[in-house]
Amino acid sequence: MLAAMPPTSPNPRNGGETHIRERVRDRADACPGALRLHRADDGGLARLRLPTGVVTARQVAALADAADRLGDGRIGVTSRGNLDLRGLPDDCGLALAELLGGAGLLPSAAHERVRNMVVSPLAGIDGRGFGDAQAWARELDALLCARAWTTGLSGRFLFAVDDGRGDVAPLGGDVTLLAEPEGRALVRIGGLAWRVGAGDAPVAALAAAEAFLAVAREAGTGAWRVAELPPGTTLEGAVTERLAAAGVEAVRVDAGPGMADAAPGRAGALPVAARADAGGLPEAAAPPEPGLVGDRAVSVVAPLGRVTSEQFRALAAGPADEVRVTPWRGFVVTGLPGRAAAEERLAALDAAGYLTRPGSPWLAVSACTGRPGCGKALADVRADARPLDDAALRGLPVHWSGCDRRCGHPQGDWVDVLATGDGTYDITVRTARRDNDDAQAQAQAQR
Ligand code: SF4
Repeated sequence: MLAAMPPTSPNPRNGGETHIRERVRDRADACPGALRLHRADDGGLARLRLPTGVVTARQVAALADAADRLGDGRIGVTSRGNLDLRGLPDDCGLALAELLGGAGLLPSAAHERVRNMVVSPLAGIDGRGFGDAQAWARELDALLCARAWTTGLSGRFLFAVDDGRGDVAPLGGDVTLLAEPEGRALVRIGGLAWRVGAGDAPVAALAAAEAFLAVAREAGTGAWRVAELPPGTTLEGAVTERLAAAGVEAVRVDAGPGMADAAPGRAGALPVAARADAGGLPEAAAPPEPGLVGDRAVSVVAPLGRVTSEQFRALAAGPADEVRVTPWRGFVVTGLPGRAAAEERLAALDAAGYLTRPGSPWLAVSACTGRPGCGKALADVRADARPLDDAALRGLPVHWSGCDRRCGHPQGDWVDVLATGDGTYDITVRTARRDNDDAQAQAQAQR
């Protein structure tokens, strides 16, 4: 939330240019976590971060049990690929921590809310991409959990770890790793990019995050995310300094086009020009299509991003199955023994209620929590949500919101279906550019 506060002193390190700095956050980060529950109208909400997106069959079972024993029997998937448990009683904290900890889902209690990553979900499965994004994410997660200072990051600070196909790079990460051919990688932060060796990528991402924290503290405006830093900050110098201190050989490169502008939605990718010699996206990739992925994996989508515990259990029917949660409210199940098993699993998941085929208009539809779970909601948007008939809007993701916070809305261009409170909805096409303009106008209006 943007809030008007008295301006602080001009920054003396910006070459004499005067910038008025106002606080952009006036309260502590209250993002829910697995151990810090948010009190919603339908009970406690716990949010579990999955840095690599991967859950084993044992962990799938533990989460489904937690939803049954402690929550409302359902599991939500967020637009960052996190998992939500809702309807939790006030006194469930210890039992939930034991359940999640026992399943290996809480490696560090102190860091559980800062392990925010989106990772290319098909990395290593379909033969695309240039780097092992899963290995990068595991290493970056270990680095995050091994350092005390990282707990200073907000629960919204996001790392995007892209294997080079350009699927999660446009999702608005504060720090983005993008694999390149020939063992190279880009690390991007705040419109700046550096090229590093692939082996240094996780350390480089951590160095960039550390630079952000230092710059944010110096600015004193309470920024949680890179986009909230005030103009005139010294991010470039801070990143360069920390990369060098970490022993990373890095070359500063042109950052290329803004990734948020290029975000592909579920309903269709926006083409981005190849920029082989710079730090832009090579090509924007659409989310995994539902269906078979090769012979040993399947991709499915949870309608409106929420499943029952039984549906969740159905994902991992074998002990060797691995489930990857996607930032498009879907799941990729890997580790299947062959094509027949993959076809069988896809049929079972179709029968369980997942979206399993490309072309369903429901793939483009998402919704916030709405009534009765959210006290701000003006409507039960999940009951109302449906694909739109308007042919002119076809091809764009459609997001239904119960109020103007528009929680969980897509990136890039999308259709905004907003409850008005009188039983109707306003429908507007929003673009990344318009969203940026609106945010700036809101900040101006509050000065
Ligand atoms: S968009 Fe509004 S109604 Fe929907 S979950 Fe967010 S705060 Fe609640």
